[in-house]
Amino acid sequence: THRDGNPHICIVGSGPAGFYTAQQLLKGHPSLRVDIFERLPVPFGLVRYGVAPDHPEVKNVINTFTQTANNDRCSFLGNIQVGKDITVTELLKIYSAVVLAYGAAADKLLGIPGENLPNILPARTFVGWYNGLPEDKDLKVNLDTETAVIVGHGNVALDVARILLTPVHILAKTDISDYALEALRKSSLKRVVLVGRRGPLQVAFTIKELREMIKLPECRPVFHKEDFKDLEKISPDLPRPRKRLTELMHKTCFEPTAADVKLWNEANKEWELKFRLSPVEVLSSAGRVTGLRCAVNKLDGSSFENQKAVITDEHVDLPCGLIFRSIGYRSLQIDPAIPFDKKHGVIPNEKGRVIGVPGLYCSGWVGRGPVGVILSTMTDGFDVGKIILKDLAEGHIPQHCRPGLQGAMKILEERGVKTVSFSDWKKIDEHEIQMGEKFGKPREKIADIQNMIKILTH
Ligand code: FAD
Repeated sequence: THRDGNPHICIVGSGPAGFYTAQQLLKGHPSLRVDIFERLPVPFGLVRYGVAPDHPEVKNVINTFTQTANNDRCSFLGNIQVGKDITVTELLKIYSAVVLAYGAAADKLLGIPGENLPNILPARTFVGWYNGLPEDKDLKVNLDTETAVIVGHGNVALDVARILLTPVHILAKTDISDYALEALRKSSLKRVVLVGRRGPLQVAFTIKELREMIKLPECRPVFHKEDFKDLEKISPDLPRPRKRLTELMHKTCFEPTAADVKLWNEANKEWELKFRLSPVEVLSSAGRVTGLRCAVNKLDGSSFENQKAVITDEHVDLPCGLIFRSIGYRSLQIDPAIPFDKKHGVIPNEKGRVIGVPGLYCSGWVGRGPVGVILSTMTDGFDVGKIILKDLAEGHIPQHCRPGLQGAMKILEERGVKTVSFSDWKKIDEHEIQMGEKFGKPREKIADIQNMIKILTH
């Protein structure tokens, strides 16, 4: 096997964490090589498959990732599922260091009776569906109902609500998948109710996303005065982002602008914020969802940050025909030999060093947990890159004598696994952009892996 005397680093996952860690490593060392392994034939993780289609500006980070991938010392190996096609243990023997940056591919359950009925969906798979993620393209979602309930008050919940309620002619100009657009065109939804365990001071969404919902064409917010009436007194003492967010909710409820009121009066759809409710049971009839029963909570604790929801004996039933749970993502263990914190769904680590395994690191959501925007994932990726460079400089990582890419390719070839390179991705990318042009969309994503591969063999 060829050994060039330079450190070879392997990164598992090509989302923001993988790419930003790679960027830092390449910048901080003159000769080390980075190989990025990705389960799918296409790169960029949740930037491609999570970020909402109507937020194209967020996806500009792809330009930076592409520059990294174009670096001579960086290789992209798509279509390789680490843990199945090659194990982390094998990678650790071939590479000087391995960085796990494989994100969070599962979700948390509500754990209530009736949760397995049709039309109770994780927000995660619905997001994958409208974004053309191969494994979610056949999701069964029945939009022939007037009311949907989303459990959760985070940005993903708002993304789902916005996609459900945005006029279809607006979505038609985005890179939303064609089948999702078709289904939304036929949708009967008039109302989306967002349910949270705690109160308005604990919402997890941010002001930009809230403002977008308030300004959504043909749609009105339904806020209940009793939820917001006492907030004016508390608001001046809140930390700044929370203060602005709270003030916007308060203003929307009590002093909307004339323009907003005009828009809302003409609206034929609505979204509603409901607080202090914990789902306890899915209501159904003849196998179809008819509602969500929730326990009414009271909040326990003095400061808003650590107030806890405590359920009372009181219940409310929210009639609906579709339910999304948007209560968080969770990472999976991909190699039984690698430490994993099953309770929190993350890899146990200290500043990105996986505890107990020299040469193994983690970056992004898989290590820090599934919270934070691309920017915070960037900071994390850079920090982990710096830690690895430090460990290299101090001799904690073998500098050479590791076969790297050639060693990995040998194993993959023996197993008959075909890799997809970054120039292959560029062909898929071009094809998607061309297909999109026909419909006035930035791209039409290929949602079928076989069809992606077909383009490459033509
Ligand atoms: P990911 O982006 O999930 O990347 C992980 C990669 O690893 C994926 O490509 C995956 O296919 C790959 N992988 C998984 N398993 C394996 C395996 N076994 N072998 C090889 N590869 C594997 N942030 C913003 O700033 N703005 C937004 O508008 C925004 N919208 C969001 C919307 C949604 C629905 C979600 C869920 C998140 C959003 N975020 C947004 C947050 C942002 O997406 C995350 O901060 C970021 O993507 C986390 O990066 P990551 O690299 O840790 O994980």
